[in-house]
Amino acid sequence: MATERTFSIIKPDATRRNITGAITKMLEDAGLRVVASRRIRMTREQAEGFYAVHRERPFFNDLCAFMTSGPVVVQVLEGDDAVVRNREVMGATNPADADEGTIRKTYAESIEANSVHGSDSPENAQVEIDFFFKPDEIVG
Ligand code: ATP
Ligand code: MG
Repeated sequence: MATERTFSIIKPDATRRNITGAITKMLEDAGLRVVASRRIRMTREQAEGFYAVHRERPFFNDLCAFMTSGPVVVQVLEGDDAVVRNREVMGATNPADADEGTIRKTYAESIEANSVHGSDSPENAQVEIDFFFKPDEIVG
């Protein structure tokens, strides 16, 4: 297994409910290490840029509005097979489909307000990490 990095966002529905620590604990318990973390209020421009792959989807405008509706915590996570490991502990996009014990099953409010984002490939992880962090802000 290779040590790799992935990118995570704790979304506004979770910061609003003050469960960023509870979610981070689930990430850490899954074997992931937080090597960078910053709480920010995403701008509309950042949200549209970050979710550019979804631009043509019907939910794009609502998604960008949601992601800018409150603070988020952007994080870089490190561990063995971090991308897959993070996706596993996150659970399915729709909490109704998520497995027991996953973050989204435990905490997500809806398919949109689903508490966390996680990169879906090592290539996208690198792009997403570079979108929010400078190299010297990541300390492994
Ligand atoms: P993320 O990219 O946030 O980790 P994901 O990879 O599980 O989630 P994507 O298909 O990339 O899911 O969708 C990005 C985000 O857009 C979802 O996390 C969710 O917040 C929102 N979303 C996805 N599908 C829908 C939908 N049908 N209706 C409303 N919002 C949606
Ligand atoms: Mg995705």
